[in-house]
Amino acid sequence: MQYRNFGKLDWKPSALGFGCMRLPALDTQRGSPNINQPEAIRMIRHAIDNGVNYCDTAWPYHGGNSERVLGAALLDGYRDRVRIATKLPTWLVQSSEDFDRFLNEQLVKLQTDHIDFYLLHSLGGAIWRNNILAHGILDKAERALADGRIRNLGFSFHDEYPAFEEILNGSDLFTFCQIQLNYMDTEHQAGLRGLHAAADMGLAVVIMEPLMGGRIASHPPAIGEILAGRSPIELALDWVWSLPEVSVVLSGMSNFAQVEENLRLADASRPGKLTPADYDLVERVRKEYRSRIQIPCSKCGYCMPCPNGIDIPLNFDFYNYAHTYDDLGSARYRYSFFMKEGQRAGACIDCGICADLCPQHIPIPEWMKKVQATLG
Ligand code: SF4
Ligand code: SF4
Repeated sequence: MQYRNFGKLDWKPSALGFGCMRLPALDTQRGSPNINQPEAIRMIRHAIDNGVNYCDTAWPYHGGNSERVLGAALLDGYRDRVRIATKLPTWLVQSSEDFDRFLNEQLVKLQTDHIDFYLLHSLGGAIWRNNILAHGILDKAERALADGRIRNLGFSFHDEYPAFEEILNGSDLFTFCQIQLNYMDTEHQAGLRGLHAAADMGLAVVIMEPLMGGRIASHPPAIGEILAGRSPIELALDWVWSLPEVSVVLSGMSNFAQVEENLRLADASRPGKLTPADYDLVERVRKEYRSRIQIPCSKCGYCMPCPNGIDIPLNFDFYNYAHTYDDLGSARYRYSFFMKEGQRAGACIDCGICADLCPQHIPIPEWMKKVQATLG
């Protein structure tokens, strides 16, 4: 196993972190609460036996059972060999008391007296202001740091870049953060800019979705031709590990073979590993993916706000996602999961106000009908 730096901490994390959000299940439901516990425990312990020392879970994963299964996996002496990361479900926070309520229950589920890395989960600008700051959650976190229930505070992030800077500069309690990063998402959400900004402030950066939830692992035929036999998983993971600012790369492993493959790739990883020819290959793959984009929306936001509440760029993002990655199923899931009904294309009343504001001259109302027909 290769070990890396973790911000200002005097501790070396394994290059690979075990993400416990896609554990093997007894049915085919996405994020099923029916985890195949014996197999999940076998996988987690195999990873630890081969050098993994960072396990990541969260309150909502597998309907709340991911934390329980990780707690069980870390019995029999395994707890002392790893550091646990779990997360406060920030979107459920309605009062300052909620911090201790969630944390204390998580300690019980994980069968431990402390969380090594506690994250404010899935922060965006609105949740940061309305749930964290408004309810004094940082004061509660500071107390948990002082009494030892948590050892380090961080946050995971899903929003546009300005919100990332706002949060990053919003507290000096943070020692790490977790962002989505892969070779297709370099300018999405925090992106490479966020990686560098956090690292410049001395924070460790944990990476999630290095394979875009598997999208860039199972590719359309045209991408396969460009890769010419090169493993898309290896290329994508090496792209992230090549960045020296990256501390841990999380992989949500679902079967034993994936654990073994990821261990092998992590063993061979190192900062700066990719060659100029590798970067050229990544660029050609990226170009092919981008050529599949149907709606040329730059997410500039000039069309917003829609007087009827439609999130125009997000609707287009999900539609483009379906075509770029040949993955209608995931796009439909995102469409229904990440937007309220009134924000979806189906709620468009065809008023046409937005169309005149778009610098790309996108016929927005027409596309809204197609988005709803495809994803609704
Ligand atoms: S046409 Fe649809 S998306 Fe555009 S402003 Fe009107 S309701 Fe909103
Ligand atoms: S104005 Fe046009 S390009 Fe900008 S976000 Fe709206 S649809 Fe996209």
